Amino acid sequence: MTGARIPLVDLKAQYQSIRGEIDEAMARVVANTSFILGAEVEAFERAFAELCGASRCIGVGNGTDALTLALQAVGVGAGDEVITTPFTFIATAEAIGALGARPVFVDVRRDTLQLDVGKVEAAITARTRAIVPVHLYGQAVDMDPLCELARARNLAVVEDAAQAHGALYRGRRAGSLGRVAAFSFYPGKNLGAYGDAGAVVTSDPAVAAWVAKARDHGRMSKYEHEFEARNSRMDGLQGAVLAVKLRHLLGWNERRQALAAAYDRALVAVTGVEPVTRADYGVSACHIYAVRVAQRDKVLAALRASGVEAGVHYPVPLHRQPAYAALGVEPGALPVAEAAAHEVLSLPLYPEMSPLDVETVVSALGNALGMER
Ligand SMILES: *Cc1c(COP(=O)(O)O)cnc(C)c1O
Repeated sequence: MTGARIPLVDLKAQYQSIRGEIDEAMARVVANTSFILGAEVEAFERAFAELCGASRCIGVGNGTDALTLALQAVGVGAGDEVITTPFTFIATAEAIGALGARPVFVDVRRDTLQLDVGKVEAAITARTRAIVPVHLYGQAVDMDPLCELARARNLAVVEDAAQAHGALYRGRRAGSLGRVAAFSFYPGKNLGAYGDAGAVVTSDPAVAAWVAKARDHGRMSKYEHEFEARNSRMDGLQGAVLAVKLRHLLGWNERRQALAAAYDRALVAVTGVEPVTRADYGVSACHIYAVRVAQRDKVLAALRASGVEAGVHYPVPLHRQPAYAALGVEPGALPVAEAAAHEVLSLPLYPEMSPLDVETVVSALGNALGMER
């Protein structure tokens, strides 16, 4: 027992490191009463689009809405099929279902746990409208072959970039790799707001123009509405907080990458642990550092007992969730995702963590695995 508790993420430590900037930005929003959209949100939208290498960013209420609006903007609707991964947070599939479309799950690769691009073509039918690659754990999906296939079959590619702020794929940023991308700024993401927030990012002017209206009651002006839509606008406070934090994002990602590399090096000496592969075609945003272990739940309990707050992303693949039972996907149909769900373990990773914390986690993991033998 070290006695030192190591959390999975530490948002308090991050706030302390940027407290002056954040407090000033929040006070400014309150003084200006610019609570919904407004200049602070617009400034953030411009800066985030630029970081992504895209022409437009449209701030919305959360990442799930961003995905839903992005899918709707490319024409997904009732009766359509959308191909995606079962190894993701439920929001990916919920956004598809919200439009009356059906998620079609394709299995993942064993090494990266990303959508297995080689298996996508066989899942395309006459109803398929779009493909949603999820840049899981901060690492981009292998987008070149996926986009080539989508082009050949006239399908839209909508990136779920909720975990991949600043990630690179062959020198290009997540958010600029498909026709349109959705980001979440849930507080625990690499770029997190102080509440719910999300964004749609695109270089397609028609998609951008539609989403900008659709997040705000189909508005053309205050009381003129082009179409029936919804209310999913970014708060002024969130825009101001995100603009401050965006200036730190790439630095924080570098810290995460250095800590992930430290885990890689230290874990070589620990038997029974297999880190999830980070492919050499890009640079991961290292949102989550995941490993595979046998007897995962016992290892997890032992880690927690020693003060290391590990997590699991994700314990149940979407096709095995009650919410998707009606799809009728049989157990064993997507074996790589199903096996991974029993084995993955997410180790603490956040920019304020020290290399010593990494050593503490690795030795606790070694002890936990020792108990298994
Ligand atoms: C967080 C997340 C979302 C949803 O974002 P919210 O802002 O919580 O709605 C969608 N997809 C993935 C992969 C996520 O990790």
